Amino acid sequence: MNLGLAGDPLPRSLVARALLPGDPGYSRYTAGFFRSGRPGLVLRPQSPAEVQDAVLYADRHRQVPLGILSGGHGISGRSLNDGGIVIAVDALNDITLLDGNRARLGPGARWGDVAAALAPHGLSLTAGDYGSVGVGGLATAGGIGWLVREHGLTIDHLLSVDVVTANGELVRASAAENPDLFWAMRGAGANFGIAVSFEFDLDPIGPQVGFAMLVYAPDDIAAFLQAWGTTIEHSHPTVTGTLILSSSGHGTPTVQALIVVDADDPDTVVERLQPLAALAPVANQSVQLMPYHTLLSQPPEQHDHGEPHGHSSLARHLTPAVSEGLAHLLTSNSSFFLTVRSAGGAVADTPADATAYAWRNANFLIATLGGGSADFEARWNQLLPHFEGMYLSFETDTGPDVLARAFPPAHLKRLRALKRTWDPTGLFRDNFFIHPTSTFHHNF
Ligand SMILES: Cc1cc2nc3c(=O)[nH]c(=O)nc-3n(C[C@H](O)[C@H](O)[C@H](O)COP(=O)(O)OP(=O)(O)OC[C@H]3O[C@@H](n4cnc5c(N)ncnc54)[C@H](O)[C@@H]3O)c2cc1C
Repeated sequence: MNLGLAGDPLPRSLVARALLPGDPGYSRYTAGFFRSGRPGLVLRPQSPAEVQDAVLYADRHRQVPLGILSGGHGISGRSLNDGGIVIAVDALNDITLLDGNRARLGPGARWGDVAAALAPHGLSLTAGDYGSVGVGGLATAGGIGWLVREHGLTIDHLLSVDVVTANGELVRASAAENPDLFWAMRGAGANFGIAVSFEFDLDPIGPQVGFAMLVYAPDDIAAFLQAWGTTIEHSHPTVTGTLILSSSGHGTPTVQALIVVDADDPDTVVERLQPLAALAPVANQSVQLMPYHTLLSQPPEQHDHGEPHGHSSLARHLTPAVSEGLAHLLTSNSSFFLTVRSAGGAVADTPADATAYAWRNANFLIATLGGGSADFEARWNQLLPHFEGMYLSFETDTGPDVLARAFPPAHLKRLRALKRTWDPTGLFRDNFFIHPTSTFHHNF
């Protein structure tokens, strides 16, 4: 049977597990976390060698889109497509503990499983806030999670990554081997190949961490945001917090905080929470101790398979301009979520030019989901000059203007030069495409 595209038969290694529309198991590749798709062909390699075969096959079929899927939680939704090829590396999901507090992870592993596998050894790797997210997407972009202020970004713990590049080669990138590629993989990885194996160093973690949920009832949201920002920036590095502000487009927005304190002594947890709890009247609260891996299994899943709409930015401080702008956004006639996550802390321990992710002084990651009205977009655009940089993983626009915000000019220049080396004809082009030569998109 010829399962291939345009009369080009599939490599023998991929035939048995390849999926076409209607095949049993195909529907699993039609719904990411937020966005749906209907790929023409799903290739499901089970080894790095099979990923090489898949890349060479996709290279012969540039006429259709190419998605790379690990955990399927990409917010831009570009791991799926309509009518194109998807190379799904979800089967490469090994989690192997190595000597010397290191772990080897496959891109298809989920962060919740990683945390659960490391917990019995008293070890952890800072990742995101949600356990179903895949290793592949997060560990090639950054990784801003519950332990970020204490341990930095996920990519800051990367020791080496094995990558199948656009010409089908399997190469290792580390400080010693292909250091330029290693630099690019830590923040712009999706443009440079398919990561098939990561090696990370790990940090110790106690059996439990503190987790607080506070529902605030602030009189003045802008003033509250400013106070939250200052207080978080001065919090102990073990404290990381996310504010979730939701607007129905009518009436008062709700303001909820999720706060993690990496300490297992209840008195220490309460003491470190106290300054945040005192910021505004608290309408509801809970504080508990739980294992870090249990924390990653919260909150409940929310799927909406329409066309997702989300923006993302980084801010050094929640200045009056940023706080007032966000407060005004909440009064726009749109229904949406706004999250203000901690970045900062140990993120700044790595120099800005050490990785493709550049925004080492940003203390806050601001992400919206929903919105989309003209009024909302205008208010968001007015805010842009007050931000400093962006983190690609929470953005649904993927064009050149987004890249110009995601990377400072010198970083973007270096990334384009590296794209010319590693993917000169733009095989990896479907998600935040860094054009090898120009700032504009071209069809190859
Ligand atoms: C509910 C939810 C919570 C989240 N929380 C956080 C958080 O706390 N912190 C944070 O930093 N991020 C967070 N994210 C964002 C998340 O990190 C990104 O969406 C990430 O890309 C998802 O990875 P994935 O492998 O699951 O996604 P996929 O959809 O499989 O991949 C997303 C994109 O990543 C690239 N990619 C995937 N696999 C590879 C690979 N093996 N090699 C090269 N490129 C690859 C491709 O461009 C692909 O389109 C969250 C997302 C969701 C949906």
